[in-house]
Amino acid sequence: MGIREEMIVLLRTPLVASINFSFPSLNRQIGEVRVNQSSFERVARALETNRLNVTTNSNNLVVGASAQYTSENALKIGNTFIIPRLTTVLERGGVVHESIHASFDMTRSVLPQVDNEAAAYIGGCFYYASGNYRSFSDPIHHAAIQIVNEFGQTNSINPARLEELRNAINNNPTYSHLVGRTYSGDGTK
Ligand SMILES: [Zn+2]
Repeated sequence: MGIREEMIVLLRTPLVASINFSFPSLNRQIGEVRVNQSSFERVARALETNRLNVTTNSNNLVVGASAQYTSENALKIGNTFIIPRLTTVLERGGVVHESIHASFDMTRSVLPQVDNEAAAYIGGCFYYASGNYRSFSDPIHHAAIQIVNEFGQTNSINPARLEELRNAINNNPTYSHLVGRTYSGDGTK
């Protein structure tokens, strides 16, 4: 199986399809930020029909990232996943994270960048938790996995933890250029 087929299979596993959560956007006019089976099926279909691309070539991969999705139509690597490997739980969770970004792109979602990242980290952590990764030391994953660990009790996201996650994202140098900015998905070409 090539990487594209592996991704399609992953996105349709019962585990990924069961990821289902929402939280109120920081921008009240936007309402709820939602991730559910439709998000992953949308991406799987787009991979099947070549509206989204996948490459294992890591030349354009951000240093330190295990996977990446670039959304901008104008870029040569736009609408493209960079996935060098898809073997470990952490790599697969990384792909769940990037697929959430791709789904927001496809639906031309407009939302705060910090909410785009928060949703992706929470989704990725649902996958990690299934592989028995229940604690992380870096502040972003720490907050996101706590959200997942606590989710079962109320079927909702603890607002204080969400605030902690947003702060951790905003305080991370990787995301400092996104602080206060809004993401606008431009769909696929
Ligand atoms: Zn991300």
